[in-house]
Amino acid sequence: MAQIDVSDLTIEYKLPKSDGVFKAVDSVSLAVEKGEFVTIVGSSGCGKSTLLLAIAGLVKIAGGRISIEGRDVDGPGQDRSVVFQEPSLMPWSTVLANVRFGLQMRRWKKDDITERAMRFIKLVGLEQFSDYYPHQLSGGMRQRVNIARALAVDPTVLLMDEPFGALDAQTREIMGEELLFIWERDRKTALFVTHDIDEAILLADKVVVMGRNPGHIKDVMQIDLPRPRNGEIVDSPQFVEYRKRLRRHLHDDMAAMQLVREAV
Ligand code: ADP
Ligand code: MG
Repeated sequence: MAQIDVSDLTIEYKLPKSDGVFKAVDSVSLAVEKGEFVTIVGSSGCGKSTLLLAIAGLVKIAGGRISIEGRDVDGPGQDRSVVFQEPSLMPWSTVLANVRFGLQMRRWKKDDITERAMRFIKLVGLEQFSDYYPHQLSGGMRQRVNIARALAVDPTVLLMDEPFGALDAQTREIMGEELLFIWERDRKTALFVTHDIDEAILLADKVVVMGRNPGHIKDVMQIDLPRPRNGEIVDSPQFVEYRKRLRRHLHDDMAAMQLVREAV
């Protein structure tokens, strides 16, 4: 049995000022194995965030089901950590206090909390900054704190929605490599939403390609590149092949949108 099992999932949003609904995700099925790194790509509005939020237990399921280790998801849970594009740090607390907070919320043993928080702050390379406040850090550093906090609680599954989306291209690349380095240590099951093709391939064991109207899965690409990986792999012939295939998919999606536009 897969660790995460999404079967025939449909998510609908209520339309404002009417009784109607908008189908954001339509009959999506997906199996994620323990320790797998899965990335989800697709053009804007194809339901990537909705799918991730559903797995996080943060949106209502209209049809189908999601289970994690055999248990149905019916709300948020301690087995899942979520990292969003905007780091949700408490501005009045230091880096250490922010990472400690996650552990306190989950009732970790008091004596272990500071030590454990420091271990993860060190892991993301911020040990010199543990008593800094979020506004004293760069965007990349803030996102590192966010990741440290998400990992410190030892979730079964790490869910990330475009965590590097707000960073400049160069910082983004570095963060991607760092995330891989961190992930290699304990290989937590990870779901990572991005619209960056290279990022999607570099990180993944499996790339899920989504299409729109309504949101569905178009393809699942197995990525057979050796690990550990670093940024240099993007020039390898195999990587270039994967990139071509992904581009074609996303291009088809954009072309389909164009046709719709021309028809109206
Ligand atoms: P993506 O993350 O791929 O850009 P989303 O999952 O955010 O896509 O959105 C999928 C579709 O659902 C979009 O058309 C979006 O406008 C719609 N949508 C997202 N969130 C809501 C909401 N809270 N209420 C109504 N519609 C929503
Ligand atoms: Mg999104």
